[in-house]
Amino acid sequence: MAYRTEQKELLTAYLRLHPDRQFTVGELVQALSGEGTIGTSTVYRLMNRLTEEGVVRRFMVGRTVYYQATRGSACHRHLHLKCTACGEMLHLSAALTEFLCRQIEASNRFRLDGDATLLFGTCAACQKEKHT
Ligand SMILES: [Zn+2]
Ligand SMILES: [Zn+2]
Repeated sequence: MAYRTEQKELLTAYLRLHPDRQFTVGELVQALSGEGTIGTSTVYRLMNRLTEEGVVRRFMVGRTVYYQATRGSACHRHLHLKCTACGEMLHLSAALTEFLCRQIEASNRFRLDGDATLLFGTCAACQKEKHT
């Protein structure tokens, strides 16, 4: 228990070191195993905390849960596009986010939870790859 803060910092540092990558809990446990033992349940608990704090974003592809570092609090204010092929996460501009949210709300009377919404698709690079 005494190491909890340290482990959290370790996790945060690792995720921020790889902002373009997504990780499962298993991968994180493995990645940090060199830094002393960190249990799977500890990582789960810490990832929940980090998700609540906005440090990471949690999303699912199929049945697998992934975590990826955000760009801090700025990521609360815009929508994200996620490439399912390479994992790249794109950050939409605040202006575009606001425009889209307004359009959706106006036409569907549906209020988008921008903070929790991730739009899945294929990024430009991966589209290119498919066609060549
Ligand atoms: Zn963002
Ligand atoms: Zn891609």
